[in-house]
Amino acid sequence: MVDLEDGPGSPFKGKVSDFIENHHWKLPNVRSPLLQRIFEKIRDIKIPLHACEDMCLWSLSSDGSFSSKSAWEDIRSTNPKVPWATLIWNKKLQPRASIFGWRMAHGKLPTDESIQKRGIALVSRCSLCGVEVESMDHIFLQCSFAEGL
Ligand SMILES: [Zn+2]
Repeated sequence: MVDLEDGPGSPFKGKVSDFIENHHWKLPNVRSPLLQRIFEKIRDIKIPLHACEDMCLWSLSSDGSFSSKSAWEDIRSTNPKVPWATLIWNKKLQPRASIFGWRMAHGKLPTDESIQKRGIALVSRCSLCGVEVESMDHIFLQCSFAEGL
């Protein structure tokens, strides 16, 4: 069953077979750009020459069956995969280590410096060397304690 509307007062209702004539699509002219795109897709569908049963096919899977995974993969937005993703999201790591790595890669570790950037007045001193302000760069790269590791 088809139930489409191309603006007020111009509904298209009927069976799919109502839009087929002599094994060709007989689709009405429409104003709606969305319907025009849908009809273009429909015209690409080959009409079988022999009689067969109608069936529902999910175009996002190879066997035509619906899965919520394939629907989710189609609608979700994804960012390009970063090269370090497999290092962090590794089954050999404990989840807390993965999350720590993700937070470190995104500069989201709760250092004194990041807390100060949120407007909280805080006197900071690296707890390892006791000399510099505690920041991510200092802890992992510049601290004399880190250099010794
Ligand atoms: Zn330090």
